[in-house]
Amino acid sequence: MIKNVSVIGAGTMGNGIAHVFAQNGFLVTLIDVSAAQLEKAVATIAKNLDRQVAKETISEDQKKAALANITTQTAIAAGVQNAQLVIEAATENTELKLKIFKQIDEAAPEGCILATNTSSISITKIAAATKRPALVVGMHFMNPVPVMKLVEIINGYSTTKEVTHLIVDLSKQLGKIPCVVNDYPGFIANRILMPMINEAIYSLYENVAGVEEIDTVMKLGMAHPMGPLQLADFIGLDVCLSILKVLQDGFGNPKYAPCPLLVNMVMAGKSGIKTGEGFYIYRDGSKELVVSERFK
Ligand code: NAD
Repeated sequence: MIKNVSVIGAGTMGNGIAHVFAQNGFLVTLIDVSAAQLEKAVATIAKNLDRQVAKETISEDQKKAALANITTQTAIAAGVQNAQLVIEAATENTELKLKIFKQIDEAAPEGCILATNTSSISITKIAAATKRPALVVGMHFMNPVPVMKLVEIINGYSTTKEVTHLIVDLSKQLGKIPCVVNDYPGFIANRILMPMINEAIYSLYENVAGVEEIDTVMKLGMAHPMGPLQLADFIGLDVCLSILKVLQDGFGNPKYAPCPLLVNMVMAGKSGIKTGEGFYIYRDGSKELVVSERFK
């Protein structure tokens, strides 16, 4: 039975993953190279738990218990030594993930399952960096993790059925809804989402319509909660670009080629919410959506 879970990377996704495991009674070791990032992550988790208390979805005692279940660590070797499951949620970079998986494989106990939260990198490639490819699996949470129900579970080429079943059951224990898919570029979520976002950017680039019109058509016409351009800003345009490149390389099909406008925006440092500007401008604390001057 899994009780001890180590989460590597304490960024946007890592803190959310640590949050849901800790809230469901697992003992979580949250690991990051940056001590400052770990401090920030624990503060974010506390703030998000406070929000749940205010909404009366959890009690003050449950919040305290969740926080008490989390410890932090800056060294991978020390942080995974008692783990039954490690979930890697570090920066989306293939070389970095291969290096991290080698380190985890050397330090984690025999039998420990190694999962990655990658959005697009091949699970099979990551698994091949370890001596336990049968125990490597994709566990793709959605952002924000405490809110979003879906977990896309990805079978690598060598992942055993037992490991997949165990991760499916575990996701259910977290109150999530798992969907099992196979390991091909972009899996399902991003294989379908990213071409839609790219097409929305092409529609803007070719002046078919403006930012607000494109997002409004998709929100009202297709009942999407957020338009594709706003969603791209939320995900990060740099992340969208890197996933499209994975699809383009992986399938060798030009239909996945990123729109030149997306490439330009990333080069200009306009990567969406995290940089303060993408298709929209994000002012401190403002909830109002304002289209970037560049697209008016
Ligand atoms: P992020 O940039 O917010 O966080 C990444 C963290 O990894 C940083 O805190 C960084 O310090 C840490 N890190 C880097 N190298 C490390 C190392 N060697 N050891 C330990 N920690 C290290 O990134 P994120 O948005 O949380 O994304 C993490 C993963 O989740 C990526 O693979 C991404 O593709 C995937 N993902 C992201 C989203 C999203 O919407 N942001 C959604 C689903 C999946």
